[in-house]
Amino acid sequence: MVKVGTVYLVGAGPGDPDLLTVRAARLLAEAGLIVHDGLVDPAILALASASAELVSVAKSRARHTLPQHEINALLVREALAGRHVVRLKGGDPLVFGRGGEEAEACRAAGVPVEIVPGVTSALGAAAAAQIPLTHRDAASIVSFVAGQCKGLAEQNWAGLAGAGRTLVIYMGVKTAPQIAEKLIADGLSPQVPVAVVENAARAQMRVLRGSLAALPALVETQRVRSPALIIIGDVTARNDAALAQIALEAHP
Ligand code: SAH
Repeated sequence: MVKVGTVYLVGAGPGDPDLLTVRAARLLAEAGLIVHDGLVDPAILALASASAELVSVAKSRARHTLPQHEINALLVREALAGRHVVRLKGGDPLVFGRGGEEAEACRAAGVPVEIVPGVTSALGAAAAAQIPLTHRDAASIVSFVAGQCKGLAEQNWAGLAGAGRTLVIYMGVKTAPQIAEKLIADGLSPQVPVAVVENAARAQMRVLRGSLAALPALVETQRVRSPALIIIGDVTARNDAALAQIALEAHP
């Protein structure tokens, strides 16, 4: 009987290979099969051994090469055939990464799963842009939400943004106008400061700033593209000088 392989759900962090965990780097170097999504930076894939088989299941908002159930089936099939599989995902596997669904599929098929956390992009963006997500003078609550999901308008975000709170929105580039409208309708001041961090922790990073009311125009005129995060709250306006400097370096 074939010994069942293990599926490792591994976080690749926001882009910079230096932000991988030591465990992730070791698994990459040892893996025979790496199944990765579209957000994983090529510099990270370059850490795989030369003999590794790389399978892309490139997932982005517009392009769905493999539907989720087929990704699950692929992981299970390879593990049942006796291969160890590294399933490499941008950021952290359990933050808007469908890692939970993949782990469930593996467990249901009797395949052992290990999860290796990664630096989720909110943390990567905060560090790279020097925006504290909490600050004793500005915020003691931080929330992560998905800006593109079923029934965005019906999602209850009340109380997640405003004085003393930081809201980080993943997957919100396309829906920025609806997001601004929704938050303002919830009673948030249109003047609350906002930062958009595009390509955080990557060479092409941009940090753009404005107010909530100006968010849709900022995204439109600056042609912000995914991957980008929208951070809403007073923390984004705390260190203007550092942010301006970073933006300048990203766009000389
Ligand atoms: N599991 C990932 C999130 C996947 S959802 C994580 O933990 O980060 C995809 C969204 O993540 C993108 O739409 C974008 O909002 C965000 N994202 C991922 N990488 C990013 C990066 N380098 N810079 C800015 N946002 C990023």
